[in-house]
Amino acid sequence: MGLGPVWRLRRREEPAVQKDSSPGWIELKAAVPACTACKLHQGRTQTVFGVGDEGADWLLVGEAPGAEEDRLGEPFVGQAGRLLDNMLAAIGLKRGDNVYICNVLKCRPPGNRNPEPDEVAKCTPFLLRQIELIGPKLIVAMGRFAAQTLLDSDASIASMRGRVHRYAGVPLIVTYHPAYLLRSLPDKAKAWEDLVFARKTMQAL
Ligand code: URA
Repeated sequence: MGLGPVWRLRRREEPAVQKDSSPGWIELKAAVPACTACKLHQGRTQTVFGVGDEGADWLLVGEAPGAEEDRLGEPFVGQAGRLLDNMLAAIGLKRGDNVYICNVLKCRPPGNRNPEPDEVAKCTPFLLRQIELIGPKLIVAMGRFAAQTLLDSDASIASMRGRVHRYAGVPLIVTYHPAYLLRSLPDKAKAWEDLVFARKTMQAL
């Protein structure tokens, strides 16, 4: 029997204040490693919950753990993570310091393939509850899986960049995924623009 998330997805128009039965950090941190709701649990070394300041103003959301993240249990610790850390430093941010980082999926897809729709559907309630518990001022969605999941859209990253979207009332900015930037150097400048835009947006909040 699956031990996946049993609370339901909150509809966007519902208030952020949850009924007492909603899991807090302790329950959520126990539920994620126990989850067997999709096939990814079979291949994981461990789940990758998220890292950082649990009351952060900044929330960065990626796609799914890779090999290094699966091994170490922390998001963005491989090559893409080093790029992310450098990009954060360039706008005066540091992981763990008013910043929280997590992924749509908490388990590594085999061979780093793209997440499948059923995996995203099963795992998303964990992410949505993390967002509610953190209560960020601004979300940066990195890559199409984060952006499309949180905005309930199938639009491209290119078409979603450069605007302030909202997830459950929280301003959300879309940018490229750091792993994509490692392969596509010309888009690094665009990602830099996105982070500067995110910083300006935060300053104006
Ligand atoms: N890519 C992601 O989306 N998340 C990670 O944690 C690492 C690489």
